[in-house]
Amino acid sequence: MFSCAKCGVLACRTTEEKPLPKNCPMREEELLTEAMAAYREPENRQFYITASEIEALGHFQWPRVKETMALCRRLGYVRLGLAFCGGLKKEAKILCDILERNGFQVVSVMCKAGGKDKCEAGMGETYKLHPGEFEPMCNPIFQAKLLNSQECQMNIVLGLCVGHDSLLYKYSDALVTTLAAKDRVLAHNPLGAIYQADGYYRERLDVEGEQAAEDS
Ligand code: SF4
Repeated sequence: MFSCAKCGVLACRTTEEKPLPKNCPMREEELLTEAMAAYREPENRQFYITASEIEALGHFQWPRVKETMALCRRLGYVRLGLAFCGGLKKEAKILCDILERNGFQVVSVMCKAGGKDKCEAGMGETYKLHPGEFEPMCNPIFQAKLLNSQECQMNIVLGLCVGHDSLLYKYSDALVTTLAAKDRVLAHNPLGAIYQADGYYRERLDVEGEQAAEDS
């Protein structure tokens, strides 16, 4: 099992000869060769080069919104998909305006599109906020299919729920970038909990406890 997150060697960040940790991914030469070959494939080559250029050009200067637009512009994309959460409708409109002002066509689809009840995809009534009442489901597969049908060249995710975002990524034909990750508690800044993991959030980051409470 790889554990770069706990590595103190960081041989990958230098040209200095350093002894690799026993479970260092750099020992996986075959996989590394495969990965490097993938960058040479036409569908990845220009995309990767451009993304890396943007990283350099915008370093410490451009907010992510601008980096996203610069990437799309340089790749010659005109039509962008925007898959957004209903809770971020206002932000989606502002983003849409910014993208359009910069010459992009924007196909935007809200998560509730389809208007299907949450239970229609198999969820139990008890997990609704108001059991027994109609609650529209988030429908990331429908969002992806709609964006695919409009031939979006790249899709932007704005605040989709954890896991719903995963399905959007899975079903999107175009590559997807995430502008913002939803966190209803931390103003869409999930790292807030990480920064406080040894402090105020220490007790609140225990998923085992949640499961036990649910099971009891
Ligand atoms: S790739 Fe190897 S050297 Fe780099 S962080 Fe991971 S374990 Fe450490």
